[in-house]
Amino acid sequence: MRLTFFGAAGEVTGSKHLVEFGEQRILLDCGMYQGPAREQGDRNRLPFPGSSITAILISHAHLDHVGLLPVLVKSGFTGPIISTAATRDLAELILLDAAKLQQQDAEYANRKRWPGSELVVPLYTAEDIPAVMQRWQVWPYANGSGIWHDVCPGIKAKLYDAGHILGSAVIVVTDGREAVAFTGDLGRQDTPLLNDPVVVHDPVATLIMESTYGGREHQPVHSVMGKLTELVQRVVARRGKIVVPAFSLGRTQELVYLLHELTDQGRIPRLPIYVDSPLASQITTVFTQHQQEYDAETKSDFRLPGEDPLIFRNLQYTHSVEDSKALNSMSGPLMIISASGMATGGRIMHHLANTLDDPKNMVLFTGYQAQGTVGRHIVERQPTVRLFGRSHPVRAEVATLNDLSAHADVNELSAYAAAITGVRNVYLVHGEPNRASVLQQRLQTDHPDWQVTIPTRGQTYDV
Ligand SMILES: [Zn+2]
Repeated sequence: MRLTFFGAAGEVTGSKHLVEFGEQRILLDCGMYQGPAREQGDRNRLPFPGSSITAILISHAHLDHVGLLPVLVKSGFTGPIISTAATRDLAELILLDAAKLQQQDAEYANRKRWPGSELVVPLYTAEDIPAVMQRWQVWPYANGSGIWHDVCPGIKAKLYDAGHILGSAVIVVTDGREAVAFTGDLGRQDTPLLNDPVVVHDPVATLIMESTYGGREHQPVHSVMGKLTELVQRVVARRGKIVVPAFSLGRTQELVYLLHELTDQGRIPRLPIYVDSPLASQITTVFTQHQQEYDAETKSDFRLPGEDPLIFRNLQYTHSVEDSKALNSMSGPLMIISASGMATGGRIMHHLANTLDDPKNMVLFTGYQAQGTVGRHIVERQPTVRLFGRSHPVRAEVATLNDLSAHADVNELSAYAAAITGVRNVYLVHGEPNRASVLQQRLQTDHPDWQVTIPTRGQTYDV
């Protein structure tokens, strides 16, 4: 078996891992690189033609795991794309949204380009998405039944619930002699709405594991409730606005669920809450369609007809640009949850420009902020940030709810790896080098007989 890591090697985005069993070339995820704009062009060109890949298994629907599927299909991929049904439905929305953004970016760049310079062409457009969806096959989780499914002649695989976002999976692939497990992104215990990550039951010698928070210990998820209560009360008391940059997929729905519970329990006042992201609204509809995937706690808390964890009286999903703009002139207390989660674009940019300079307000971060993003600049409390070409002073309170992370911490990651039978080789992906190396040392100390590697991008490893 041969492994090559084409992305998320020493970094967190662009997951693409190739597993070769002889002639069969299986790709695990086909994600987009989301770093600095000047690098995106090069990094989002595929280093292999689509026609060279036999089949693709997808761990979950985040853009950095599915975003280059249209590029792969355009370059001749004709095999199956395999995931859970929820991942397929979510991925379709994510890809359509990515196509729209790229088209807008290309149009903008072409309007501004120097005469004679090359036209900017989007990686793909909405017209390319149906050809991707046509190739999709959906499998149920193996959690209970443990049934193997055929990927292609001689290769079988299983999907276990990864508890990271709706539909997320840990993937196990085998040719009958050797097996590799890929965690995709691994969730935490007690995440709102989601099941806990399910440990792979099959003996596996090779594990490809994420390491986003390989250098961090999170507080238990339930501690978030107390912190969220406190900060909402604090901002409501000074009649401020709380602006929350949140990923449309996953974080927005978890946060809405927690706010619903806190409101029902009377722990926070019924302040107006707006989810201002058309994509998040569409995704919430897909969540409702797949509510059989929710965890037992959610199902029992919201079991009456008409009850929905993602809908409550003082919560509104705004759609039109006019409704979004209208939020600017509203006075607090209120909360606006909007995308993108790292403030790299989207409606959140207007809300930040409109609230950052007033100390009454709060910017609340609920997830990982990558280097170089506006989100990271604000989290690091830089005195000013640039939005729409203008410098804005950061006077609003800046708060973080990192323990709501959708990613397992160093203890959860090492416990997950240790619970799998037969592990010998671990490849740590999807983490900045300083975080991956903390996890590497931890695993190496706990398991001196394991080989723990942080792979380099493009490097091939014979296992
Ligand atoms: Zn993810």
